[in-house]
Amino acid sequence: MKNTPTVLKFFSRLTAVLFASAICCAPFVGRAAEVTITILHTTDLHGNILPTTDYQGNPDRGGIARLATKIADIRRENPNTLLVDAGDTIQGTTVSFNTEGRLIVKLFNHLKYDAWTLGNHEFDWGLKKIAQCVTDAEVPVLGANIKLPTERDGEPFPPEVAAFKKVKPYVIKEVQGVKVGIIGLTTPGIPNWSRPRLIEPLEFIESVRALRRIVPEVQRQGAQILVLVTHQGYKRSPDDHANQIHSIAANYPELDIIIGGHSHQEWSEFLIRPSNILYTQANYWGTYLGRVDIKFDTDKKKIVEKKARTILMDNSVPQDPAVLDLSKEPLAAAEKELKTVIGTAEGDFITRGEPKRETHIHNLICDAIDAALQKNNTRADVIIHGVLNNKGILKKGDVTVSDVWTVVPYENTIGVFEVSPDTLKELIEENASHFERGSFRGYWGVRVTYQMTDDRARPLRIVSIADRDGKPFPPDAKIKVAANSFDLSSGGTRFPKLREIADRPESKLVEYNFQTRQAVADFIKERKTVAPRIVGWWNFLRGNTPVPQEKDDAPAPDSGAVPRETFPARTSPNWRDALCRVRFANAVTTERDPPTRSASSF
Ligand SMILES: [Zn+2]
Repeated sequence: MKNTPTVLKFFSRLTAVLFASAICCAPFVGRAAEVTITILHTTDLHGNILPTTDYQGNPDRGGIARLATKIADIRRENPNTLLVDAGDTIQGTTVSFNTEGRLIVKLFNHLKYDAWTLGNHEFDWGLKKIAQCVTDAEVPVLGANIKLPTERDGEPFPPEVAAFKKVKPYVIKEVQGVKVGIIGLTTPGIPNWSRPRLIEPLEFIESVRALRRIVPEVQRQGAQILVLVTHQGYKRSPDDHANQIHSIAANYPELDIIIGGHSHQEWSEFLIRPSNILYTQANYWGTYLGRVDIKFDTDKKKIVEKKARTILMDNSVPQDPAVLDLSKEPLAAAEKELKTVIGTAEGDFITRGEPKRETHIHNLICDAIDAALQKNNTRADVIIHGVLNNKGILKKGDVTVSDVWTVVPYENTIGVFEVSPDTLKELIEENASHFERGSFRGYWGVRVTYQMTDDRARPLRIVSIADRDGKPFPPDAKIKVAANSFDLSSGGTRFPKLREIADRPESKLVEYNFQTRQAVADFIKERKTVAPRIVGWWNFLRGNTPVPQEKDDAPAPDSGAVPRETFPARTSPNWRDALCRVRFANAVTTERDPPTRSASSF
């Protein structure tokens, strides 16, 4: 037993030595370490591979080919780099339209994106086409608020629906031992722009509700950094049906970073108060690459610094030859197509005065819709339709496919429904309520006289509604009204009455498959020449005095002549109306908050 103390002493000494060495080695074994993670982000690329002209008229900006070069540079600088996209990726260019979005997905695969959140325009071509893109994607496709119905036994989903099983709410990427949870959220406003036939049976859930289960789940999976990549934009004003950043931030302060999109704005960085979530958004068309840099302390297991900026993609950044090579043939085919001359304009078709005043472009679009409906063995008595692009000017002379894309940048289709004269009046009243808000639509086939008032809440009162010949509609008339698919979906909640009326069973809505752009192209091709015309479909009185319309032969704004300004001008750029439809709109993206103080080093 004498030995026991010696043995104990030995072990206690050994323990002491080991303990001491453990302490002495501690700085080397469990040393505090900072991991620097970079997240690059793009949004609202709208099919732009090549540089293009931005809203302000700056040429040679953006495009995926240019982004690719910068992405490669930054990846070389920091191998701990993730790359994400916030949606509206495939719709907007001829080359992407012709390849049904698949070329852009091919480029995303090539660039090894880590996540792609779907945007609203991804659904413009119906489920089949976006389903194919989702199937092609080697990139994780995200949409935490895209809900599939429950699949019933023995009734499997058709392939275009089954493809959406691949769309996940989130992905967790491990970067040098740090788990980054990337949650994707599209805009819940999709059903307010897209007809049910394009999106059913998918459902789009409100943001806060969709995240309720997902955020804790991502945390349970061990994510140490929470990034939301959403096809929604930050708004100074309260949230709306499509953009819900305020409520997301208020309900989920545990998010570290929100990468936004949809509103075509550039937000380099700011902190959303009081949650201190870093918000950033990379404008549109790849004109900026977004960059977030995070320092993560692996000892403290927390972010110690987060900062963001947006990098201008001007011609100081060369285009990536591999991206150009992968796109070469479809780009060449699209370029050739866009240059094709399809007819002649006998004069300048201008949009000056839109949306309040009738323009040549209104009539061109509506005449083309009328012709296309006749080919489908139907006719509309009345068309309610706006100008889709206030830069949509056709110049006198050759009209190319490219000109038609400018006039009709979207893949809208047309629906026709029946109404009584009283119901038509309701539609005309609803439209009048948008007069001061910039989303006023034009008329064709119906003559409307409005009284202008000084009441901002109700700036127009209907004086009379008559048929195309100026005669009142008989009270029992069944009037066939045509509108485009965007407005029939309520035009982003602007025209709920139009939608509700069109969807009534007694309205017998028929939706046609032809697209407005094709209708305009065919109209010009078949007629060979088109002439600008103003009919006087809608007119205004102030008191008893008519507010003059512009003459048919009014000069184009850039022809050197001074236009006769007889009409109240638009008071301000209407970016709210533009939102996602801002693709070709005026310079409407400049409204912004002054960024709050720098988000870094808090
Ligand atoms: Zn969008």
